[in-house]
Amino acid sequence: MENQTQTSEDLSQLKSMFSDYQKKQSQSTKRKSRENILAKYFVPRNRNETFRILPPKPGKKYIEEAFFHVVTTNVAGGKKKHGSVIYCPAHNDPKVPKLDSTGQPLLDTNGAPMLVPAPCPLCARNKEWLAKQDPSLKGVKKENMNEFQLKVKAKNDEIYKEAIKWEAKKFYIVRGIDKGQEKDGVKFWRFKHNYKNQGTLDKLLPILENYVSTHQADFSSAETGTDLNIIMTDSEFNGHVYKAISAITAKGKSLLHQDADVMRVWVEDDIIWRDVFKPKQAPNMPPYDFLVAVANGTSPYWEDTDQTNKHWVFPGRPDLEEKANTRTMNLDSDEDDFEQASDLMDEEVPRVTISNITPEKVGEFTDDASDIGKEVTAEATAPAPVVDTAPVVDTAPVAPVAETVIETETVSTTTEAPEDGEPEGENYDDLPF
Ligand SMILES: [Zn+2]
Repeated sequence: MENQTQTSEDLSQLKSMFSDYQKKQSQSTKRKSRENILAKYFVPRNRNETFRILPPKPGKKYIEEAFFHVVTTNVAGGKKKHGSVIYCPAHNDPKVPKLDSTGQPLLDTNGAPMLVPAPCPLCARNKEWLAKQDPSLKGVKKENMNEFQLKVKAKNDEIYKEAIKWEAKKFYIVRGIDKGQEKDGVKFWRFKHNYKNQGTLDKLLPILENYVSTHQADFSSAETGTDLNIIMTDSEFNGHVYKAISAITAKGKSLLHQDADVMRVWVEDDIIWRDVFKPKQAPNMPPYDFLVAVANGTSPYWEDTDQTNKHWVFPGRPDLEEKANTRTMNLDSDEDDFEQASDLMDEEVPRVTISNITPEKVGEFTDDASDIGKEVTAEATAPAPVVDTAPVVDTAPVAPVAETVIETETVSTTTEAPEDGEPEGENYDDLPF
């Protein structure tokens, strides 16, 4: 009996070894995909694009909803980029306990912690602006306003216009295959909600609904689903040319792919949109601080205009700028990519600091595939914090230090750009209304 128990314990240890190994396998897959994260964006740019929606993963929806701020960030060359799409923690993260002034969690009447949205400096800015509106006009119809009230209203309207720039916007995300780039595997198509019902979703849904009723089949089925043909057109708005969807059609019932193995890999891939549309950060600047910088117009950026002098710029934060351009590596730091011998356990690790390290080239990727991305020349070379024009950066997470080339004095100062950048080519987005 005892012997049997012993055996099953051994087996459970073995089983956990297998599952650990599997986990590590999938982690390294994720890391790899991060390096090439741009390839995970589906951004229709060509006149004709073909996209195949994949069946949703268990517990997920066909069309997921997520929230991003669409703001202005600082970019290379001292310019500003409008339409940077930035992850909103308040709308996308789980709620957090509400704390009182002493830092203790507040409890509701049932004694459970009160939960509030995770803090988001950009949502906060939106609220700050809204609070500046004169509330005396509430409930007063425009036609009944006197001259004074009309003036107040005009002021309120202006404030509202500013406030709305900071509001988190709803986006839809669809998981699927870009039939023009099958080698990239599963991609995510992200498009903005449109309050005039003229957005991508409004074009897509009737097509999908029609497919389901005509074919009595799931549009996303690997066996009986359909490829979607997307026809793009140039659309002008406010003096800018945008790529816009002119039409979407269902091509008709087809296999997801001729090769059953390819099909299986695609359907079973467990990548989710959160692996792709991540919170932005910069070296030594975690996502929350990055959002604060965006709100203040001081978002850091990767300066790669001069090929011989690529570096990070942190407006108003020379300390962080210096740090970002001087790589250090601690063997006991908790770098995601830093692995240690399995027998090391919790033993004290010698600490080593190395400066002037040239991180291995990580590969640049663009963050916001669906950016409006007009560029505007910045007022000044070193953007001072401008409260109203929140500059935004598509930032990039710290360049992975893994496999760092460690050299000494002779090292060039080039720090490779992290996973970020601008989508090359034209800017695509839904029309900005
Ligand atoms: Zn937010």
